[in-house]
Parts: sequence; C-alpha cells; structure tokens
Amino acid sequence: MEPGAEPVIYRSPLPAVAVPERTVPEHVLHRARHNDKIALVDAVTDESLTYAELAEQVEAVARGLVRTGIRPGDTVAITSPNRPRFAVGLHAVMAAGATAALINPMLTPREIARLNKLANVSRTLDLDDLPLGGNDSLPPGNPRARAVVLFSSGTTGVAKAVGLSHRAVVANLEQHRPGWHIGETDVLAANLPFFHVYGFTIILNSGLLGGATLVTMPRGDAATYLRRLADHRVTRAYLVPPLAAAIADHAGPVPDLCLHHVLCGAAPLDDAVRREAERKLRAPVRQGYGLTEAGGTHQTFDDDVASDPTSIGVLCPGTQARVVEPGTTTDAPEGEMLLRGPQVMDGYVGDEEATRQAFADGWLRTGDLVRVHEGRFHVVDRIKEMIKYKGYQVAPAELEALLRRHPAVRDAAVVGAPDRVNGEVPKAFVVTEGDVTAEELMAFVAAEVAPYKKVRQIVFVREIPRSVSGKVLRRTLKEADR
Ligand code: AMP
Repeated sequence: MEPGAEPVIYRSPLPAVAVPERTVPEHVLHRARHNDKIALVDAVTDESLTYAELAEQVEAVARGLVRTGIRPGDTVAITSPNRPRFAVGLHAVMAAGATAALINPMLTPREIARLNKLANVSRTLDLDDLPLGGNDSLPPGNPRARAVVLFSSGTTGVAKAVGLSHRAVVANLEQHRPGWHIGETDVLAANLPFFHVYGFTIILNSGLLGGATLVTMPRGDAATYLRRLADHRVTRAYLVPPLAAAIADHAGPVPDLCLHHVLCGAAPLDDAVRREAERKLRAPVRQGYGLTEAGGTHQTFDDDVASDPTSIGVLCPGTQARVVEPGTTTDAPEGEMLLRGPQVMDGYVGDEEATRQAFADGWLRTGDLVRVHEGRFHVVDRIKEMIKYKGYQVAPAELEALLRRHPAVRDAAVVGAPDRVNGEVPKAFVVTEGDVTAEELMAFVAAEVAPYKKVRQIVFVREIPRSVSGKVLRRTLKEADR
C-alpha cells in the first residue's frame, strides 16, 4: 500500500444487521416456552425435546446450577457428543450467567484436563445427572459477558481457549438470517459436533432460533447418513469435505430425499467431489466459511444457488475483510484475509500475548490465503500451521512435542499431507538418534492423543529445516514433499 493510501476494505452485499442486547439463551429461546414442536430428536436413541420442554428444562437446570454454587464468572465444561440434552446443558450454563466450555469428548483424559485448565473450568456438567431447581433466582443476563469457550490452535502453536461473548454469538446468528431462511418447516441434520463453532452457531443455535427441528446423530458411514436424511425428512444438511467425499463415493442406491440446502465448510472442498455429492443429494451444495475465532464470516445465500460454487461465498452482513501480504498490513490482490465484525472473539482466555498476535490494527488474522472475484471469496491455501483431519483441527506443535519426548527422537516436525478421504492427515518428519521404527513412533503418539490426531505417516530425515530463529519451516517441508 502506498504511504497515506486508504486500505481496500471488502464489505457484505447486504446491509449490517442490528444486534439485540440479549444473552444467547434469551435470544435463541425467546419464543420457545409455548411451542410444542419438536426442537431436537436423536436419530439413534429417539431422545427428544419440544421447544417448551427445552425452555422449561433450561430454566430448571440453570436454577439447579445456581443452587449448587455456580456464579457469573465461573466456567462449566460440557464434554459430550451431540444429543438433545446438549442444548439443555449449554443454555442452562449460559442462563445461570456462567460460561460454557465445549470440549471434544473424543479427547483423552490428559487432553481434556489440559483444556479444562486452559479455560479455567470449575465444574464439568454431567448431562445424565443435571442439577435441578430450587427457588434460587437467576442473575440478570449480561450480553457483554463470555458465553462460551471453544478451542482452536489459531494461526500458531497449540490449542488456545477462544472466548466468545453473548453479543458476538447473537451477532453471528443475526448475521446469517437475511441470507439463510431457516424456518419452522425445516429439519436440520445435526451430525457435526456442537463443540465446534460450525455445529455450535451455524447448526444448533441457528436451527433453534429459526424454530426448526434438529436431528442429532453420530458420525456414520454414507449409507447410514443418507438413510437418516430420508427417514427424518431432512431439509438442510451440513457437510465437511470428507463427508461430501464419502457421499460422492457412495456406490449404493440413494433413498428419496427432500433436501433444499446443503452447506459445506470447515476445509477446502474439491469441485469434482462437490458436483458428485450434489448429484447424489439432488440439491445444491454450497460453501460457507468461518473459524472458531470469528464464527461464520462468509455464506452463500439460500436464493443464490446460481453463484460460483467453488467460492466460499460473500461476506456476512456487518463483516469486513482485507487481503494483505501475509504477516503484514499491505494490500495484495491475493493474500492473507483479515476480518473485522461484531462476531469476532474478544481474545484467547488468559493469553494476552496470543491475543495480541492474532490481531493487526484491530483486524483478525485468519492465516488463510484468499482472492476475491466480484465480491465472492476463494480460499487459495492455508498458510497457518493448523492441520485439518476430517474438519477437526490438529495442532502440529502438539504432536511435535510428543514425538520429541520419545528417547530415540532428536527432532520432529509435523505437517498436513493431502488425503482424499480425510482431507489431510498428520505426517511427521523425524530425526532419530537410536533405533526406532515408524510403527513404534505412530503407536507412541496414538497412546497419548485422540484418534483424529494420530500421526499417520512418518518420514525419517537427517535434519528439520528451521529459520534462523529456530522455528520449524513447515511450509518448506510441505512444499518439498509435494
Ligand atoms: P476452525 O477454527 O476449526 O473452524 O478452522 C478454521 C479454518 O478452517 C479456517 O481458517 C480455514 O483454514 C478452514 N476453513 C473453514 N472453512 C473453509 C472453506 N469453506 N474452505 C477452505 N477452508 C476452510
């Protein structure tokens, strides 16, 4: 950018939306109390809740939490797969004025303990034994308070606790409404985890706000997933690229579906996979984009199915972007995307340094390389360190630290290797100083981490390329490996 020149700022084609001064439960459940429609049903267990039951239970459990000593400022963890009662626990924690830390139940006890510590968790909520009632009154809602903590490695290093205020979540929900018309006749497939921002904002809370029915289901194979879409007459499906690939590869018959909208996000979508998934699902598959630190920021509107499907969409209302030379604030035609908007996180909990590094002049650095064509954004590459296995984040630094703990390992670097089925898989480059096989090292890591973080490929090398400051040059490794 020329000195003194104004930076190029990209904006949404839609006007900004008003953000109501409400907490997430006040906003999402404000019409629930007298609504006898099914809000959530589980495809396997048949556990279900109407909107009225959800509202009543949220209030009873919130009072129960207050009775048992939970106060504003406390953080309560929910470590559970998707199920109807997840919504009760989540909204009750927030209605009690506390913060809900949402933790992946697939993690090992050691990993969970680390995240609990990061987020300052004072209690873990057991969804099968929820505290109930009491005459205790609930504290007044504070939209500025922290509603949830989700976890992300951001652009560098290991997991960090992302704090999102009620206001940020409510803003993000409102930002998606003009473009996506989720309504009471909609049935949403809720297979993607509620502990991730995609499941949390875009599926669970957008669905409840719209008065839709959500069908919770575990991750199954393509045939089971398709059957569930048919059995529950699902109108909106939410994919990540590996699920889109499984659907595209599905060889058996496809049952009669009534899908109107299919969204795919969380990682790059191959266009041949997209076209084949679209053919099988008989509905347009369009992309959205977001990240834990900012929720959803790009969308393809429901009535814009003719748009370029290789794009991640346009900016959501009230969201602004810049495209700069990576690591700088100099405008570039293709470069790192910076974002600004009311949905962006306040910062990483208890980590001022990481928060400072995440922003440049008030703009969030995404670590994604993009270009913009007629207002539509295209992700060209991911320049941050994060690996995405089936849409789940894997932080290379965490696996490197583990590998280096093995007595026969002198140095290690981990990158994401492209993989058709899973998107990317963690691949380690290892310098040894003793006898050890690739299988032994993979088993060593696998014993310590959740299954999705396993190292799946190992290459023995003489040296790990490092910058003068000692930083692992992961991009150099990745490029040399292509
Ligand atoms: P997470 O914080 O786990 O949601 O991961 C956010 C990251 O996922 C983004 O910074 C991107 O690197 C990637 N991502 C999300 N949506 C897309 C998309 N539609 N296309 C390509 N990458 C995406």
